[in-house]
Amino acid sequence: MIGSDNDAINARHRERTRQHKVAVDKRIAAATQDKGLLLVITGNGKGKSSSAFGMVARTLGYGHKAAVFQFIKGKEEVGERAFFARDPNMRWERCGEGFTWETQDRDRDIAAARAGWEKAKEALADPSIHLVVLDELTYLVTYRYLSLEEIMPAIAARPPMQHVVITGRAAHDDFIAAADTVSAIRDVKHAFRAGIRAQQGIDL
Ligand code: ATP
Ligand code: MG
Repeated sequence: MIGSDNDAINARHRERTRQHKVAVDKRIAAATQDKGLLLVITGNGKGKSSSAFGMVARTLGYGHKAAVFQFIKGKEEVGERAFFARDPNMRWERCGEGFTWETQDRDRDIAAARAGWEKAKEALADPSIHLVVLDELTYLVTYRYLSLEEIMPAIAARPPMQHVVITGRAAHDDFIAAADTVSAIRDVKHAFRAGIRAQQGIDL
């Protein structure tokens, strides 16, 4: 490429990025509010709970308190729990009895979900907790273990600066309507379907 062509490309690039920076700076300047957020991470793709636990890491990193309530799944360990348990600002509750197709006992699943929800409600009323993760909460509504009438008021009445993350597939429309930030992770490919079992550090 001859020099003058390159100079022209570089000049155009500078002008485009300058304009981009002006637009981004304007949007940043317009976002001035602080608020306890409700986030929903849903969809069939991998990455919902690990995203929520990433926000737990961020929270603990600032010395704030975080609480995780793992509904549905309770038996199997995830690496994050072992890691975060070392932090005195972490509360981690495994509320479920395992996958429904493992327990095969609806009444027991409902009792476990309800007991977990009672604990979660305590955290949702505690202004010292910066972040509450309600992991796999969507299934409690889908399976009718808990009603939205029981869940939504507790979330709405939480301390104004407390953040809440709900994870799970097929989030009910009411969760999505109430949320400030919603991501639906799309399943493009998953190694499990190629016969690969769950890998430490990646899947659990
Ligand atoms: P992760 O905890 O890895 O962020 P997730 O919360 O998005 O996953 P879950 O439905 O809670 O997904 O399932 C957790 C486990 O199932 C993980 O081991 C994950 O790798 C696996 N998994 C997630 N999505 C899929 C999928 N589409 N197909 C097969 N396995 C999946
Ligand atoms: Mg999950």
